[in-house]
Amino acid sequence: MKKTILLFYLLICSQAQAWTLEPNTARGFESNEIDIYIANTDCSGAGFSTNQYESLIKSAVKRFWNNVPTSSLYLSVKGIRSDIDISGDTHSSALAKVPNNSILAGCNDSATDFSSAGILGSAVMNCSGDTCKAVLILNAHANSGLPSLSSGDQEAVIAHEIGHAFGLGHSEYKYNLMYYSISGKFQKWLGMDDIDGVSYLYPHESELDLLGLSAIGNCGSISLDGDQSNGGNKSLFSFLIGVLSVLLLSKTRNIKNLF
Ligand SMILES: [Zn+2]
Repeated sequence: MKKTILLFYLLICSQAQAWTLEPNTARGFESNEIDIYIANTDCSGAGFSTNQYESLIKSAVKRFWNNVPTSSLYLSVKGIRSDIDISGDTHSSALAKVPNNSILAGCNDSATDFSSAGILGSAVMNCSGDTCKAVLILNAHANSGLPSLSSGDQEAVIAHEIGHAFGLGHSEYKYNLMYYSISGKFQKWLGMDDIDGVSYLYPHESELDLLGLSAIGNCGSISLDGDQSNGGNKSLFSFLIGVLSVLLLSKTRNIKNLF
């Protein structure tokens, strides 16, 4: 039986790895429990109020990131911070206002930050020692493409940027949340790359033990914006869930880019 598991695992490991880490940090937060705050900013240009933004974030983390069986990541949405205003801030100046070990979500109507209507949002993560913080900003410029999206697609955009905020880069394959664009798809669930990436950064060790895979060690290699680096805990369970997700995803959408 163990030989069968090992053989199947090796077959999985022989697959090309398509998920990446956030290029600036190449790591996750120190804790698997990360707080998310909403900044006191005007998101009306993105098509929703600040209160609706909070609801979208809660739905996004519940639908995509907080229920991955092979990951221990838990994103806790703590609410609107009336004392934190990032209106007009760049990503770097907004980062300075983010509480340690948390993610701050806001909006910006700056034409400098969002020179193209096709850019729906962006996120920046920064770590120093054991302390990490990240900010995600949605495009609330007058020509933002966000208002024309369904609430489900808005959730997917937010979940994508949260993925960057806790340490993931892009996947090169279309049917993953962390693909750079939502063009031509309806992202309803995580894909295999998303599940593998979040399970690598925030592993659920008991799941690996249950499957008898923890003793086998790391699998394959992952790419860091084209460069190869070590790592990548892969599990049979995440593989099967990923395949199921890919089989279920379909439908067409207009071209919208995520950064
Ligand atoms: Zn992106």
